Amino acid sequence: MKIGFIGLGIMGKPMSKNLVKAGHELVVFDFNPAPVKELVEMGATAGTCTADVAKQCKVIITMLPNSPHVRSVALGEGGIAATAEPGTVLIDMSSIDPVESKAIGKALAEKGIDMLDAPVSGGEPKAIDGTLSVMVGGKKETFDKFYDMLMVMAGSVVYVGELGSGNVAKLANQIIVASNIAALAEALTFATKAGTDPNLVYQAIRGGLAGSTVMDAKAPMMMDRNFKPGFRIELHIKDLNNALNAAHAISSPVPITAQMMEILQAVKADGHEKEDHSGMLHYYEKLAGVEVKR
Ligand code: NAD
Repeated sequence: MKIGFIGLGIMGKPMSKNLVKAGHELVVFDFNPAPVKELVEMGATAGTCTADVAKQCKVIITMLPNSPHVRSVALGEGGIAATAEPGTVLIDMSSIDPVESKAIGKALAEKGIDMLDAPVSGGEPKAIDGTLSVMVGGKKETFDKFYDMLMVMAGSVVYVGELGSGNVAKLANQIIVASNIAALAEALTFATKAGTDPNLVYQAIRGGLAGSTVMDAKAPMMMDRNFKPGFRIELHIKDLNNALNAAHAISSPVPITAQMMEILQAVKADGHEKEDHSGMLHYYEKLAGVEVKR
């Protein structure tokens, strides 16, 4: 079965390459011709637009920045709803607002098109290695049909529930990661201001209850002053904006998320939005008047 792949950015390009390497026949499209050319050199076919991809493929993967981009590709002029045959399946792997996943899925269903929301965690290195964590919402029988194909790009593929649940899981992940990074930045700034070596504090606590994947990934980056992304501040703002919208839509208060958003906004206002989210450290350093380093 031919697979359509729309959105060949930081994540979509390596993900689609892994599908080609595994022997799948791909029709790819992006506004940016450079990654399309790379995929064609590997054996994929270039689509000329979304409609061209939709006419050729019964399954279409999208890996786009945010909800409006997915809405436009799915439901806009020349989009999937208008051009794909009934029976087509859209697998949206972008991180978007789950309220939008449900609304887009409902509109597609009226045209006989099925949808899974299947956002990922892991970033570019895991997209390249094919070891992403994929969290999937939608019909269980559709999930079962595409499990093996998703596993080509992933280390784990977990069914979470009805359409939208994949993005609920992704936003839960993003809330926890932002809060962990902020707590780590706050603690290392406190240690530095107290005149205690932050690296020795990190070494002392990393094996205890406070230790975490976030701590081991981000504490060395903070102390080395290495804020190269990784995962950009501006993308985390996008995700927390979706988390706030989705939580408010169901009256589920998210006070920590609201505070994390304001810290990220302050760091953005200071010109750091293209840096890794470990750059939340700048906020605390500015408040305390110290610099955290080894
Ligand atoms: P990106 O901006 O690098 O890539 C998006 C691509 O979509 C671009 O190449 C753009 O040209 C293309 N595009 C946009 N609108 C289009 C349209 N209408 N038709 C065709 N192509 C279109 O973004 P990314 O970093 O690859 O992220 C994609 C998604 O994955 C986002 O939702 C992001 O939050 C999520 N994500 C990113 C990371 C990461 O570390 N970068 C990690 C996990 C999840």
